Amino acid sequence: MPTTETRGAAPQNAPAPAAAVQRPPRMMRAAVLAAPGSPLRIEQLPVPRPGPGELLLKVRACGLCHSDLHVLNGHIAFPTPAVLGHEVSGQIAALGAGLERTGLEVGQPVAAAFLMPCGQCPECDRGRDDLCPNFFQLNRLRGLLYDGASRLARASGETVYQYSMGGLAEYAVLPATSVTPLPADMDQLAAATLGCAAFTAYGAVRRGADLRVGETVAVVATGGVGGYICQVARALGARQVVAVDVADAKLEAALAVGATHAVNSATVDAAQAVGEITGGRGVDVAFEALGRPETWATALSLIRPGGRMVPIGLGAGQQAAAVPINQLVRSSQRIIGSYGALTRQDLATVVDLARRGAIDYRGVVARRLPLEAAQDGYAALAAGEIVGRAVIDMDAAPER
Ligand SMILES: [Zn+2]
Ligand SMILES: [Zn+2]
Repeated sequence: MPTTETRGAAPQNAPAPAAAVQRPPRMMRAAVLAAPGSPLRIEQLPVPRPGPGELLLKVRACGLCHSDLHVLNGHIAFPTPAVLGHEVSGQIAALGAGLERTGLEVGQPVAAAFLMPCGQCPECDRGRDDLCPNFFQLNRLRGLLYDGASRLARASGETVYQYSMGGLAEYAVLPATSVTPLPADMDQLAAATLGCAAFTAYGAVRRGADLRVGETVAVVATGGVGGYICQVARALGARQVVAVDVADAKLEAALAVGATHAVNSATVDAAQAVGEITGGRGVDVAFEALGRPETWATALSLIRPGGRMVPIGLGAGQQAAAVPINQLVRSSQRIIGSYGALTRQDLATVVDLARRGAIDYRGVVARRLPLEAAQDGYAALAAGEIVGRAVIDMDAAPER
């Protein structure tokens, strides 16, 4: 729910005061993927240590995201054993060297973005965190941080690779470039969903589409990220937001958070329905949030002449989608890929949108699960059963 503004000496968006934190223990629980296709197993791993410019996060919560599924089932290659989970909130448990004047403090609650810019390459220098080659080449392909090592290992010394920060564990190490303080009045558990789902949605709307006030929007596939795109598009001034999905439950959820219309593309012709809603023209921007050839085709069928299609769903491996050449050429339409957002600029804005109630981040949390139930959560996600986001609550007691 939106928080009411109050006038007073302490601004509402002041960082939360650092709370006392216990010294990190020696060992922690982590959900480990031993090999692609095998179920996640809980293991005891040594608590990692942050290097220079990094911090140790005591993970409060971790959202279960569709892109983890591609790694779990081997459709996107990633080294194993590995700890996945890239959508986290938590409390700073320790700071590495060189972070003295950053304003970050031990005990401070923070949200973290999955896209962890190295902060030192030419792309990072010009603010393009989304293009950081070190993030792609070292972390996304090899499961490492930017000195070429993972912070995770088994007690035997065997390397355990980390997908982003490796958030499905009680503690995680990540570059300080990837976090932003969470105000004290925010829901620390629900804030986990800000670092991938809401962050990606904001990037798609603000950076990818460069949405203008009064434009019309369609969102194809309104799961975790798609639902947030509906919210962000409305918050940034979209006149009409048409949710398009094959699941009525997801459409109802989208209507509840700001979509103005809903179209079930399994039962009606989506292009015809969107044409009727928009007075025959189609939308200015269609977002695609699933990364499948058929949802690309749907999204491309919805945009007006001169319109934009913004895909943000990752495909499985080397998947390709068909594009209607003559439609695109004759109508001067554009396809604009969008990956995450600009971490160091946009994550704080996303947190602020949530704090002000412009996006409902609490309502996105559909299920809370203990770490031991991460495998079940991903199975439910793969089966299309999650309306919104399933979130691992790291403080929840293990199921017996
Ligand atoms: Zn994600
Ligand atoms: Zn970089």
